[in-house]
Amino acid sequence: MTPVSDRNHRITFQRRPQGLPAPGDFGADTTPIPAPGPGQFLSRTVWLSLDPYYRNVMKGTQMYAEGVKPGDVMIGDTVAQIIESRHTDYRAGEFVRVRNGWQEYALSSGHDVRKLDPAAAPVSTALGVLGMPGITGYAGLVYLGEPKPGETVVVSAATGAVGTTAGQVARLVGARAVGIAGSDEKCNFAVRELGYEACVNYKKGDLAAQLKEACPRGIDVYFDNVGGDTLQAVLRNLALHARVVLCGMIESYSLEQPPPGPFLGPVVGARATMRGLVVYDHMHRMDELVRVVGGWIRAGTFRYREDITEGLSQAPEAFCRLMRGENFGKALVRVSAEHN
Ligand code: NDP
Repeated sequence: MTPVSDRNHRITFQRRPQGLPAPGDFGADTTPIPAPGPGQFLSRTVWLSLDPYYRNVMKGTQMYAEGVKPGDVMIGDTVAQIIESRHTDYRAGEFVRVRNGWQEYALSSGHDVRKLDPAAAPVSTALGVLGMPGITGYAGLVYLGEPKPGETVVVSAATGAVGTTAGQVARLVGARAVGIAGSDEKCNFAVRELGYEACVNYKKGDLAAQLKEACPRGIDVYFDNVGGDTLQAVLRNLALHARVVLCGMIESYSLEQPPPGPFLGPVVGARATMRGLVVYDHMHRMDELVRVVGGWIRAGTFRYREDITEGLSQAPEAFCRLMRGENFGKALVRVSAEHN
């Protein structure tokens, strides 16, 4: 195969965007088309994937992708067709998923490359539902959300690449999928084409109230692609023992400062689990507590401290000290003497 032109057109990173990215944050240039050396192949980009995480790459906060400096070709996932190969595993004409970035031609050593079968599915799906976004929606929902038949699963950015997968997987495992999307057109598509039972347009009215109506028994699983206000509205509608999968926080990607309140981005990076605790679910373990911790106290391996105030009349002031954080140990009021 031969290249269709003799120049390689590239889009480069120019500068860190302020707020939403603008075309002026990118540059463009042309370079000669490189020739493959031993163990390399040259491919022509057919499809370039646009993914929200590029915004974090431009900000320098993306954890799992190469960084970019001004003048560098923009990084990115692509589907490409091999033009010329000096790699024993790859032949001219084959389609591959490869990280060519935002350019027409690139060399590859075969690292992080997946061969594609155009007969199995359109090759563009290797960047969408059968690629990185697809595995995100599928694995995130199945293994972290653990939806059960009959449960209500809410998915934000419901018609996007990740949401399309998460929502339909929810439906196909027998759960009730409810989408959140940013227009009536997207919501209609979510219901008619993707099989969501309902879809809420968050740009119309009070999202928490709309979710309450769409999910009368509460939300069992929330697959969050957005964060921010959307997450807050969903949290107000959780069912008992709900699971929240923090996948993406696109609402904050173009902000210079994280929004007020706890920023949950590090929870994603750390693959952390946050769970609600209500003591009353554990009261049947009281005998266990007394046996285990009581044993440690008697053995001298467990210490505790009490902050004792004398006299009931001092209780209000003692309580106020507690609420000012001035107690040191378990706050108690000695109301009368202990008689054995
Ligand atoms: P999408 O195709 O879903 O496109 C992004 C969508 O986000 C928009 O179409 C929009 O849909 C929605 N959105 C909501 N609020 C905003 C906002 N304030 N600004 C811009 N868009 C907004 O993208 P993907 O499917 O590729 O990705 C979805 C999410 O998953 C992203 O947050 C991404 O970063 C994350 N992700 C996380 C991965 C992980 O490993 N944790 C891996 C891959 C993706 P609408 O109008 O319906 O709201």
